[in-house]
Amino acid sequence: MTQPVAAPTVRTTCPYCGVGCGVLATPDGQGGATIAGDTEHPANYGRLCSKGSALGETLSLENRLLHPEIDGTRVSWDAALDTVAKKLSAVAEEHGPDAIAFYLSGQLLTEDYYVANKLAKGFIGTPHVDTNSRLCMSSAVAAHRRAFGSDTVPGCYEDLDEADLIVLVGSNTAWCHPILFRRMADAKERRGTKFVVIDPRRTQTAQESDLFLGIRPGTDSALFSGLLVYLSDNGFRDRAFIESHTAGLDGALDRARQIAPNAAAVAVLTGVPEADVAAFYALFAGTRRVVTAFSQGVNQSAQGTDKGNSIINCHLITGRIGQPGAGPFSLTGQPNAMGGREVGGLANMLAAHMHFAPEEVDRVRRYWGAPRIITGEGMKAVALFEAVARGKIKALWVMGTNPLVSMPRADMIRDALKGLDLYVVSEAVSDSDTARGFGQTTVLLPAQAWGEKDGTVTNSERRISRQRRFLTSPGEARPDWAALADVGRRLGHGRAFAFDSAAAIFREHAGLSAYENNGTRDFDLGALTDISDAAYDVNLPVQWPIPKRSGPRGAPQGKARLFGDGRFYTFDQRARFVAVQPPALALAVSDEFPFVLNTGRVRDHWHTMTRTGKSQRLSAHRAVPFVEVHPDDAAAHRLTDGGIARLATEHGEAELEVMVTDTVVPGSLFMPMHWGGAFASKARVGALVRGMPDPVSGQPELKATPAAIAPVAYRARGFLLSRAQVALPEGWWWARAAITGGWGVQFATQDSSRAVALMMRGLIQSEALPGCELAEYADHARDRYRCAVYDGTRLVASLAYAPAGARPDWEAAKALFAAEEPETPERLALLSGRAATASAGPVVCACHGVGADAIAATIAGGAGSVEAVGAACKAGTNCGSCIPEIRKMLAGQTARAA
Ligand code: SF4
Repeated sequence: MTQPVAAPTVRTTCPYCGVGCGVLATPDGQGGATIAGDTEHPANYGRLCSKGSALGETLSLENRLLHPEIDGTRVSWDAALDTVAKKLSAVAEEHGPDAIAFYLSGQLLTEDYYVANKLAKGFIGTPHVDTNSRLCMSSAVAAHRRAFGSDTVPGCYEDLDEADLIVLVGSNTAWCHPILFRRMADAKERRGTKFVVIDPRRTQTAQESDLFLGIRPGTDSALFSGLLVYLSDNGFRDRAFIESHTAGLDGALDRARQIAPNAAAVAVLTGVPEADVAAFYALFAGTRRVVTAFSQGVNQSAQGTDKGNSIINCHLITGRIGQPGAGPFSLTGQPNAMGGREVGGLANMLAAHMHFAPEEVDRVRRYWGAPRIITGEGMKAVALFEAVARGKIKALWVMGTNPLVSMPRADMIRDALKGLDLYVVSEAVSDSDTARGFGQTTVLLPAQAWGEKDGTVTNSERRISRQRRFLTSPGEARPDWAALADVGRRLGHGRAFAFDSAAAIFREHAGLSAYENNGTRDFDLGALTDISDAAYDVNLPVQWPIPKRSGPRGAPQGKARLFGDGRFYTFDQRARFVAVQPPALALAVSDEFPFVLNTGRVRDHWHTMTRTGKSQRLSAHRAVPFVEVHPDDAAAHRLTDGGIARLATEHGEAELEVMVTDTVVPGSLFMPMHWGGAFASKARVGALVRGMPDPVSGQPELKATPAAIAPVAYRARGFLLSRAQVALPEGWWWARAAITGGWGVQFATQDSSRAVALMMRGLIQSEALPGCELAEYADHARDRYRCAVYDGTRLVASLAYAPAGARPDWEAAKALFAAEEPETPERLALLSGRAATASAGPVVCACHGVGADAIAATIAGGAGSVEAVGAACKAGTNCGSCIPEIRKMLAGQTARAA
């Protein structure tokens, strides 16, 4: 038999977070690939976090959308695109072009984004193009523009290596940007860099900090207003910088004094002890090299733009910007949120960092030769979907995102989509909540996935890297830009959409950035305007601006830092201090909804799990959707650790497993954002959150929604492990996770053990498990049932059911299920529920698959430090994002010993 030939290693970029790590992918010739970190990529120098290193486990074709469909029927690409073009024309004719909207994604490549934006804003003539980056960092964009006159990230990752103080605001960096956090940890080890963490939750990042400020939700701008006053009153102004390079300090300072005149007032507003406020202020003031990195905790807020500006104000008053180791730093969530900003993928931008000044509109019109250039902003995400609900939008094209899980008031959106004349979804997966039929005509277009597509992405430090293809596209999947260009041609714009490659699109995009620029705009890729196909193929990561000629604003080889010369992109080249609004403290908690619901990410999953959900390693750390509850609240509301709770807000409900923890403060709840309808029965975060938009940026509030919580008393708990996915009955609570050799579904049900036994007997007579044999253990008097299903000697499924207070051991059963053909002791163990051998416990280190029990045994055996644990069992020795958990286990052991 001929062996598959492995192809050469390809340099590409991780498709997850905004760190933008370089990846080496070596295809195995069978549709898979071996993954390693790229030692030459300046974002990660060879390191990958748990998500990045598990990329090879996510390449299967399971659940892939492989062919175009119209209303659930497979059609040809021609038929699908003809329908899209015809319906778009009909909607534009009948209702006007602004009845058409596009909802894009930070997962798209820059080239896809560019063509979508050009088609909509220049040729269809609709301004309503927004993106899921609205939910991610649009408040940072607005804060940058107010302060700098441009959406410019001033610094670079080397600043994190060179800082003496890193302030992390609303950022669980240890879990959400793990490789950057390792760089910070290295700096701490090398030069003693101090960490201050500001967050309502005591996150894993907070556990690694020198000072943790557990602020009340929404009070960040009070903390930084107080800091501005402190810096001003205690001799820390950089007078020369303020005088020569800024404007507006007096107004900003007056407002800051009204909000937070001193540390005592800040303590009252934020709930942080006054001594800790004072310690933070003294540390910030006394450290020249300080980076303030902020992320979703700042941005996903009804006052996110003000929060961003209150941080930037403190860097401007001290002149700490654009200098080695100093500056405000927005950490972007998505792999190409920055690329989307560059092409104009946000509704309030036009293209290439240009907006809607008449000369900008005219410039873009001329460059594109656009017949229907838009002249003003479109609707931002929240307003856009509200317009769908009101019937103002008649055609919607969603690309590479899952708004029915992630958008606020997602249930309202699901209902609203039914009123569309045309609903187009460009997707790589077939079972995302968003890719189900909704509109009167629903067209699904199969998109290339990571590893198949080819183009560029930009990371948090303005570094453009290549995502390269190393796999053949399955089925009829195509690049998103190609589908868009085909529609453009069908609409009669052949010349403008005559792209034949990603490189050709990139050249046009670079050309627009440089067009009539002359150093007046920050975003300039002039040096890449004429890049050849060959050079594009081998192009190395580079930080913009990259103008054609070197000058004060950039160099052809790229530029790591901006604003070091004190020149900004405002009309007078001065940065602006911004007078921010007082924090809105009167959060509408009530007797009905007495809690504040916070949302965020877990360590090993990405967005709505369409990719990470395929990896058993990544699904092992957190296998079910959960809600974190403080012990006092758990006691008061009869919630038990591991029990199920119903979480309700004004907008919707979810049922989640309770995690009792003091990482949240009393009155607060936290739930993750990842579980959609494909992975859990009722855990869509978007269905619950309020989503009040920030008045400047339009970014919705996702961190503070009034909520109620109550226990749900299910009769029994259990799990079903199977080689292929098996659907559970309506009305059961369930959560699905990839496991070694198949899928595991943990469930809760009101059904009796007798009913479940009948269900299993029905399954082996159905198409789900046809012709298989059932081995059973039943004790219906005690409401217990276990079974294993065999196809010959092959174990194909196993179920365990027990009363809710006596949950079967999921970890032990998963370990048994890993063997396709178990021996007699393992067969017996599946039915007895007793482990044949000790399991390693719930996974802590996803990179090396090391469980909590194994780490505990290592610690009990004498390993007294993170390093010793790593040496003994490898836990924590790859990406390090489990180190906070290992440290916590070590501290627990020390406390017990004491
Ligand atoms: Fe990917 Fe992890 Fe790097 Fe983010 S930190 S880009 S998820 S490897």
